[in-house]
Amino acid sequence: MTNKRKPAGDRVLVLGAGYGGLMAALHAADAADVTLIDPAAHFTERVREHEVAAGRQDISHPLSSFLRKKRVTHVAARVTDIDPVHKEVVTDDHRRHPFDLLVYALGSRTQTVGDGSHEDGRLFTSETARYLRKRLDDGPGTLTVVGGGATGVEMATELAEAERAWKISMVTAGEVGPALSQKGRTHVRSMFRDLDINLEEGRPAAPEDLDADVIVWTASLRANAEVARSAGLALTVDGRIEVDAMLRSVSHPDIYVVGDAAAARTEAAGELRMACATALPLGSRAGRNIVAELRGQRPKPLSFRYYAQVMSLGRRNGLVQFVGADDKPKDMIVTGRKAALVKEQVVRSTVRSLRLAAR
Ligand SMILES: Cc1cc2nc3c(=O)[nH]c(=O)nc-3n(C[C@H](O)[C@H](O)[C@H](O)COP(=O)(O)OP(=O)(O)OC[C@H]3O[C@@H](n4cnc5c(N)ncnc54)[C@H](O)[C@@H]3O)c2cc1C
Repeated sequence: MTNKRKPAGDRVLVLGAGYGGLMAALHAADAADVTLIDPAAHFTERVREHEVAAGRQDISHPLSSFLRKKRVTHVAARVTDIDPVHKEVVTDDHRRHPFDLLVYALGSRTQTVGDGSHEDGRLFTSETARYLRKRLDDGPGTLTVVGGGATGVEMATELAEAERAWKISMVTAGEVGPALSQKGRTHVRSMFRDLDINLEEGRPAAPEDLDADVIVWTASLRANAEVARSAGLALTVDGRIEVDAMLRSVSHPDIYVVGDAAAARTEAAGELRMACATALPLGSRAGRNIVAELRGQRPKPLSFRYYAQVMSLGRRNGLVQFVGADDKPKDMIVTGRKAALVKEQVVRSTVRSLRLAAR
C-alpha cells in the first residue's frame, strides 16, 4: 500500500461522536464536508460517568456547540452496517450514506459475564450510571464494585464518599490498581480504608456469586466492533480493529479507526490502552491524515507516548502516577487534594481541546 494516494472523492463520514470521532470530524472538516453519525445530539464526557452515579447532574454538551463553525453535519441515527465494496454506511432509519473516506469511532462498552441469573435489576455498569443513581436514591444497602482497574477504583471511591449510608465493597480478580506502582497501590488501599471500602483482592467473581443489593460491574471493556466484524474488517483476538501506523484499517485502508475501537500502537508506547487520553490524539491524527489525503499529500504516522495516569479518589483526593513512555509506572506519585485538582484540570482539558479544534 502506498502512503500517498488521492481518494476518488471527498465524502467523509465519521461514525461515533465520542472523544475520538468528534475530534476526527472537526479536523477532517478543514478539507471536506463531513457527516458525523451518532444517535445522540450531545457529546458525553464518558470519563465522568462515576460522577453521575454519585449525583452529578449533567456531563453532556450539545454537539451543535462544537459544529456550528465547521463543515460538519450531524445525522442522529445508529449505524447498523458498513458496505465496504459499495462504500456505503447503513443506519437504523434505513438510510444509506455514501463515503470516500470513513472514520470508525464507535468506542467500547462494559461487558458483563455470568450465567444470566443476575438479570434481576441488581447489576449496573458505567453505561447505566443514571439508573444506578436512581437505585441509590431508593435507600441504603450493600454495593459491590467488581473490577479493581482505574474505572472500578474511581467508581468505588466516588460512591463511598457520596453515599455514606451504603456499605461499599470491591472484589477484584488480581490486585487493586494493577497498572500502578507499589506506592500507588498502597495509597489506593489506604484511601479505601479511610472511606471504609472493604477490599477483596485475588477473588474472580461472577455476578451470581455476589449477594450485594447492588453490583457495579467495571471489569471488562469491549470495543464496539460488531459492525466492523460483519463488514469484514481485520480484528485482533481481543476484538479491536487492526490499524496501520497511519490509523487506517489494515484490511480496508479507506477506513480510519480511532479511539477504543482501534488497536493502535506506536514504537514508544506499544499497543495503546482504551482511554480518552489516547482517543483524542488518535482522532486528531486521523482527521489530519484525511486532510492530507484529500490534498494529495502523504498521511503521517501516529506519534504518541505516555507521561502519567491520573485518577480521582472521590472529589477531594486523587492520584497522579507518573509512567514511562510505554505506560509502565515509575516510583513517583502525587496524592491528595493537589492530585484531585490535576485530575479535574485534565478532564476539563479534554473538552477544551475539542472546543479549540472547533474554532
Ligand atoms: C467511568 C469511566 C471513567 C473513565 N475515566 C477515564 C480517565 O480518567 N482517563 C481516560 O483517559 N479514559 C477514561 N475512561 C475511558 C474513556 O472514557 C474511553 O476510552 C473513551 O471514551 C473512548 O473514546 P471513543 O471516542 O473511542 O468512544 P466513546 O467516547 O465511548 O464514544 C463512542 C461514540 O460512539 C457512539 N456509538 C456507539 N455505537 C454506535 C452506533 N452503532 N452508531 C452510531 N454511533 C454509535 C456513542 O453514542 C458514542 O458517542 C473512562 C471510562 C469510563 C467508563
